[in-house]
Amino acid sequence: MANHFGEDHVFALTEALALRKAASSSIKVNALLGDQHDRARKDLQAPVEIVDVDTFPKPGDLWVDKRKWLRIKNVVAVSADLKDSTALSFNKYAQTSARLYEAATGSAVRLMAKFDPQFMDIQGDGIFGLFHGERAFERALCTGITLKSFSVRSLAPLIDELFADNFPDTGFKVGLSAGVLVAKKVGVRGTNEPVWAGKPVNYAVKCAGRADRHELIATANVYDKFVGNEYVTHSCGCPNGVPVPLWVDVEVEKLGKHSRCKLLPVGWCKVHGDEFCAAILDGDRKRDDVSGQAAA
Ligand SMILES: [Zn+2]
Repeated sequence: MANHFGEDHVFALTEALALRKAASSSIKVNALLGDQHDRARKDLQAPVEIVDVDTFPKPGDLWVDKRKWLRIKNVVAVSADLKDSTALSFNKYAQTSARLYEAATGSAVRLMAKFDPQFMDIQGDGIFGLFHGERAFERALCTGITLKSFSVRSLAPLIDELFADNFPDTGFKVGLSAGVLVAKKVGVRGTNEPVWAGKPVNYAVKCAGRADRHELIATANVYDKFVGNEYVTHSCGCPNGVPVPLWVDVEVEKLGKHSRCKLLPVGWCKVHGDEFCAAILDGDRKRDDVSGQAAA
């Protein structure tokens, strides 16, 4: 499985936050807009080449100058961002907000990297990852559950313990979606970042936006992959030994006709999390304690 991120690969936050060079005072907006009007007309009329690929492209496979996009099917996107990050004030709580940003985003990237994403990046106060190929849905789901578990198990209690009482409650909201992506590098003067365009990323972000902290919301095309997967659909049975259905219906209004989604309220069980995560990643689907129950 191709993984372009070592476990210690964490984006330098200072770089991500680097300010662009200050605008020159000699900007002539009319000329500037006129130039881009002409450029946009040309771009809108010029044909592009779209190439279907079966393997996830490496950054080196993407072009900047050629009008050539790669199209990849069955990509699963995971988006996670901090709840109420607008309440994190770099005026009022600069120290704590900056430390929280570092701890939350840094840990999220390190956790996601363990599940072999084909691509990941920091976006604002959150991260997103793309999964493709073998067990892409399983790796993406386990990533999402792990991020929300970190949120409820560590992030929230640590904030309560270490920060002032009036610090805003926060935690990760997680969204998952799947579908077709197109990729190209787009940029000017050296900032040639890969661009991933398509519904999976957009929908995953909207699902995360609808979730509360410590929750995970998946679009139907992700949840459908796990229908009948008893390691995903049902709890481990703690604390009384009876596995119960875990997912609940939720409407993500911003997704229009795809608004019917599924919400997972819980994270990994401290006792059975290792076992269940391994089973899901191995592709196991049936459990005696659930199938047997249904047949009884
Ligand atoms: Zn358990």
